[in-house]
Amino acid sequence: MQTNPNDLLPFLCKSTGKCCIHNLVILSSFDIFRIAKALEVSAKKLFENKILTYRINPTNFWMEPILNSKANSTCPFLFSKSSGEDNKEYLCEIYEFRPLVCRIYPLKYDKSENLFLRFLPAENRCWECISNEKNPTLTEYLDNANIPNFLGEYTKYLKLIESIQVNLNLEKIKKNKLAQEKFFKIQAILYETYPNQNEEKLPFDEMKFRIEEILE
Ligand code: SF4
Ligand code: SF4
Repeated sequence: MQTNPNDLLPFLCKSTGKCCIHNLVILSSFDIFRIAKALEVSAKKLFENKILTYRINPTNFWMEPILNSKANSTCPFLFSKSSGEDNKEYLCEIYEFRPLVCRIYPLKYDKSENLFLRFLPAENRCWECISNEKNPTLTEYLDNANIPNFLGEYTKYLKLIESIQVNLNLEKIKKNKLAQEKFFKIQAILYETYPNQNEEKLPFDEMKFRIEEILE
């Protein structure tokens, strides 16, 4: 469904934390970079400490980094706080640095159309936050989540991934050992090497250069 910038979003978060349990949060390099910055550790450490992990995309076999849920399927960054008698509020430890998927919830970003679609599939729908009170417009909601600034960097990352996928020919990767080695080296560059934690932006040019070297 196409959304209009002035549409009211029938959504108000009540901090139940439900969307941070049993949900797969796939991360971009930009997300990882920001989480590493928030926790003042390297991206590599996040994987070593099992805060982040990988899954294999069942459709294209691309290795995707994800938040590594705790044993009870809860996001590693979710914590609870009492707010009055018998009232618990669930909050995000890295709220300012939360990934895009969390940032735009309950919307979904469609990169092919460059627009936001309503995202309320039945299996992870949150009934608590469907509300008709104090609804923001779509634009207000996205501005509030700082999406316009965030998307510039995120889109650059998506383009980089797409160009790598085109170059590598995923069918070949499955059959060819050398191609698989290249694939994993590239993953390492994308997800685990952020030399300067003080930079606000990902070192795209450096990543691109190193990836091109591997692809040659
Ligand atoms: S499930 Fe809905 S109400 Fe609960 S924390 Fe998530 S967005 Fe907020
Ligand atoms: S990063 Fe924060 S907002 Fe996202 S799932 Fe985890 S606790 Fe929830």
